[in-house]
Amino acid sequence: MTSPTFIPSPKPIPFELRPSTIQGTGAFATRRIRKGTRIIEYIGERITQEEADRRYDDEAMERHHTFLFNLDNKGVLDAGTVHNESRYINHSCDPNCEALIDKGHIYIYALRDIEPGEELVYDYAYERTEDMGPDSEALYVCKCGSPKCRGTILAPVKPEPARKKAASKAKSKSKARGKKSRGKQGAGKKPSSPSSKSSKRTRPVRRKRAG
Ligand SMILES: [Zn+2]
Repeated sequence: MTSPTFIPSPKPIPFELRPSTIQGTGAFATRRIRKGTRIIEYIGERITQEEADRRYDDEAMERHHTFLFNLDNKGVLDAGTVHNESRYINHSCDPNCEALIDKGHIYIYALRDIEPGEELVYDYAYERTEDMGPDSEALYVCKCGSPKCRGTILAPVKPEPARKKAASKAKSKSKARGKKSRGKQGAGKKPSSPSSKSSKRTRPVRRKRAG
């Protein structure tokens, strides 16, 4: 594999990189960042799903460590080969930032007002597939240290599709609401699915290898 290319953000960024208690190097606010601010573009090499599979093999890794984001059905952004400061923003189960796709680009936005010195974090919410068991939980272990930590950087388990069991609908709905009540994430913008037409910004999915 070629060595990673670092492309610094063209704009002055409102954070600095230094060691983090969550993992490796983290991004820490150097000034107050207001809620809704577009902080930085998540830079990566645009590759195909097939190429992403060729490059990374989850089973061969002791601890999951890739920098892939699903852009759409065809495209994946790989920040393992081309990246900027955005790659150092760690995961937390209690995030103060979120990643959203806007016109084919991924940006990190402030979910709430962030004070200087705070570490910038967003919920990686890696896609969860049916074949994932305890082994996967271990591979995707979370060490964010938040009281709200769910123990894994995998996305929270989704409630059953409502159409399957009408009877359990109310139950799973309230369950989902309970989960989302953490922080301001659930109170503000609803996470929109890529097919949502109501919002031009969509939430990208951190990608594991296919199959
Ligand atoms: Zn956590």
